[in-house]
Amino acid sequence: MTFAEVLLPVPITGTFTYSVPDGMADAIHVGQRVIVPFGRKKFYTGIVSSINPIKPEGYDVKEIALCLDTVPIVRHPQLKFWNWMADYYLCTPGEVMRAAVPAGLKIESETFITPNPDYEEDADDRLTVRELTVMEFILGCDKKQTLDAIGKKTGFSNIGVIVNSLLDKGAVVISENLVERYRSRKETYVRFSFGKGDSEKIHSAFSAVRSGSMQEKALIALIELSGYMRQGLDVPTEVTRHELIEKAGVTTTVVASMAKKGIIDIYHKEVNRFSFSGLVNGELPKLTDIQNTTLDAIHKSWLEKDITLLHGVTSSGKTEIYIHLIDYVLRNGRQALYLVPEIALTTQLTRRLQKVFGDKVVIYHSKFSDNERVDIWKKLLNTSEPLVIVGARSSVFLPFASLGLVIVDEEHETAYKQQDPAPRYNARDAAIVVASMHGAKTLLGSATPSIETYYKALTGRFCLIELSERYEGMRLPEMKVVDMADARKKGEVCGTFSQVTQRLVNSALQRGEQSILFINRRGYAPVARCKLCGYVPKCDNCDVSLTYHRHSDKLICHYCGTPYSVPEICPACKEPGIEVLGYGTERVEEEIDMLFPNESIARMDLDTTRSKDSYENIIESFSKGKSNILIGTQMVTKGLDFDRVSVVGVVNADSVINFPDFRASERAFNMIEQVAGRAGRKNGNGTVAIQTYNPSHPIIGYLLNHDYKGYYEHEIAERQTYNYPPFVRIIYIYLKHKDQTAVSNIAFEFALRLRKLLGNRVNGPDEPHVARVQSLYIRRIMLKIENNASISKVKKLLNDIRVEMTNSKILSGAILYYDVDPM
Ligand code: ADP
Ligand code: ZN
Repeated sequence: MTFAEVLLPVPITGTFTYSVPDGMADAIHVGQRVIVPFGRKKFYTGIVSSINPIKPEGYDVKEIALCLDTVPIVRHPQLKFWNWMADYYLCTPGEVMRAAVPAGLKIESETFITPNPDYEEDADDRLTVRELTVMEFILGCDKKQTLDAIGKKTGFSNIGVIVNSLLDKGAVVISENLVERYRSRKETYVRFSFGKGDSEKIHSAFSAVRSGSMQEKALIALIELSGYMRQGLDVPTEVTRHELIEKAGVTTTVVASMAKKGIIDIYHKEVNRFSFSGLVNGELPKLTDIQNTTLDAIHKSWLEKDITLLHGVTSSGKTEIYIHLIDYVLRNGRQALYLVPEIALTTQLTRRLQKVFGDKVVIYHSKFSDNERVDIWKKLLNTSEPLVIVGARSSVFLPFASLGLVIVDEEHETAYKQQDPAPRYNARDAAIVVASMHGAKTLLGSATPSIETYYKALTGRFCLIELSERYEGMRLPEMKVVDMADARKKGEVCGTFSQVTQRLVNSALQRGEQSILFINRRGYAPVARCKLCGYVPKCDNCDVSLTYHRHSDKLICHYCGTPYSVPEICPACKEPGIEVLGYGTERVEEEIDMLFPNESIARMDLDTTRSKDSYENIIESFSKGKSNILIGTQMVTKGLDFDRVSVVGVVNADSVINFPDFRASERAFNMIEQVAGRAGRKNGNGTVAIQTYNPSHPIIGYLLNHDYKGYYEHEIAERQTYNYPPFVRIIYIYLKHKDQTAVSNIAFEFALRLRKLLGNRVNGPDEPHVARVQSLYIRRIMLKIENNASISKVKKLLNDIRVEMTNSKILSGAILYYDVDPM
């Protein structure tokens, strides 16, 4: 008898042991999905994590009910990676699995059992009475049934065994919705209805269309596109109808009439979702001398260390250098992972990469449908071809065959950190681990490296390579600080814009150039308030003031999404005094619209980018100059590359700088320097206006001079003085409860017990910035752990306390979780 350890998507630590039924022993392998009974009469889908011959002591093991796969759906290093992640981020491997595997592979959702329409009972292998009962039940249902449901309805406790036998006999099948939902993409093509080089036929084709007509245009275009007359080309190139229409400037009706005349055939073909039909020139960008030197230095650095930081100013051509590195890796037959912090960035990047690498580019992120994600997963599972995978943070979980290189672009970005739910991982750090499991090299890139990364680079953990010149020696943009208090005094502020900023935007428009305006808040106004009594409407479930959205005319909670109508009279003083205060993207848009009534304006924030193609559409239309002003939240600060942007306005720098958090100043410096970096990329003629009421804040000085190093020195000294990362590691312990007193007491008790063991490494408990979300009160304990301390020891201590407190019922009703290396 063999036994299998199965990973289940439950928030309970560890794997679960099941016995493998005799008939299944040969078919079962590590990495396959199985359905197992769990708890009372419940079934779960899980993944086999190991197989061993030893029966666990002390309890009855149940049998695996069904094995869903004939081949594993994960690759060997993935399970190891999941374990690392669960260990490091103090969560369960089941939680990691849930984040890692696309929902379409049905790890949590249920698998359906349906009758096999082709089944005929075999006289030598009749169904047993129980099997017949189950069959009758299934056949009698209109809807598909899950194993769980069949078990409950028929009352058989060993339903897994029965269904397994029915499967063996071919009476039922497991219906994977996937197969049904899979829709392949079809493309429409056109070709001449006669073979190549037949000049007689071409002649008669021309005489069949009127000269100067649309059809003639299409005919000429098709000859060109297909290379019909080109020497040395045996078979004409395939041409899509779309290409033909674009090139000839005709409609589909024109193409259809030509088909009717018998000149051309229209045919459909299934295309690979991954194929790229645009122009692939396969040419690597030619690097400048300084870029070439940098590239060499990176290659050399990898002889010494596995991880290298490329600190290159904005628009220095980091992407160009990455392309060369990827090319090198692909030519060596290995795969490359290229991580970007924001989905918006994949759009421009994908185009740049596809021009060089064509079909070898694979994109992966959460805006893809489940179906598409499963497709990509399976593609990677079944190939070891050299590919470059471009993706947001969840792509670290893909089943790579053999990674040779991991690039983490904009490595400082907080978007790499998953906040909720567990695993609360940082994709940059996770990517480094994945790389090391594959023996791959890692390149971290940024114009504003995180304090931790730069510290590691300076102290020799990583190699450090600096690239301090913009492409073609372009100047970095000129930074202007606008003292808003002073400007207001002088009457030089209209709404939220100083005259300085307005004039800059205006002169850019005069020159035919573009502007980006960055405001850190979405919606219309971040606060509503009664102007008579000062009452502020808050969310019923969360401890936050509500943001007014003009588009929907609602007050919305940005923590739980609950919408509220705007009260006409103040609930506190019963007077009609509610007004909205402050600025969000919607209001900035409205104001810009009033200032520049003839301009069309683009806005990019969470509200305008909910659908899959929305990023692409906004970026595309802005690049094409359909609008000349782009307003946006932090989405516009990251890595976008536009040629004609010469002005950037940071509308409210203070909202970025003043945040009660030890990373606030780092985040502010990075965000403002990055958004500034969008300006003057092609003509070196950029200007940035930073509007602030706090012009003497130290980070403003460093920003003025683009002085990253000065800023770093300042910040690292603060971190050392106050004992923050990178000098210690931080773990937050979160406790949530629907009762405020209860959560205070629990947190106090937890901290007390922890303090006995860890002394002054324990800080708090305190209330986080937002102390109630979705009706739960929150308390937080901060642990500061020495860098060289053993995390597994800390983990054990935390677990012991949790068990003690659970056993003495102190924790009841509370939710407890950890955030390791919080951002
Ligand atoms: P970064 O990633 O460092 O911000 P990019 O790689 O986006 O910079 O380069 C900035 C701009 O300069 C891009 O538009 C890019 O096409 C151009 N560029 C940089 N290096 C080269 C090169 N060697 N040849 C042609 N264009 C380049
Ligand atoms: Zn809320």
